Amino acid sequence: MDDCIFCKIVKGEIPCRKVYEDDEALAFDDIHPMAPVHVVIVPKRHLATLLEVDEDALPAVAAMIRAAQEAARIKGIAERGFRTVINCNEEGGQVVFHLHMHLLGGRKLADGLG
Ligand code: 5GP
Ligand code: ZN
Repeated sequence: MDDCIFCKIVKGEIPCRKVYEDDEALAFDDIHPMAPVHVVIVPKRHLATLLEVDEDALPAVAAMIRAAQEAARIKGIAERGFRTVINCNEEGGQVVFHLHMHLLGGRKLADGLG
């Protein structure tokens, strides 16, 4: 997708602070962190939202989860604990329409999910 920010990050056209990368997924620091650790994990394949994940796209989602595990270990929060969030569409708070998972941690996170 030519006008997608996260596709541009995947292609290296927009810089990022890379945390982890493999063939199918990329993890990088969020530009506006909401916690001491705030990593965004994207499948390299463009999928706009969680609703676009069909059977064919499941390997990309599996890769996103694997990359989240690696990012949590790299950031040193795997054992302490963390939260993962996928926002979907307007009321879910999605702003960038390239499927992504937030990895949040490094402090005790608030109870509840808002
Ligand atoms: P959403 O609200 O769509 O779930 O989350 C999008 C996230 O992407 C936000 O937390 C925002 O700070 C982050 N973000 C948006 N543009 C950029 C960017 O150019 N670089 C990085 N590293 N993060 C970005
Ligand atoms: Zn994209």
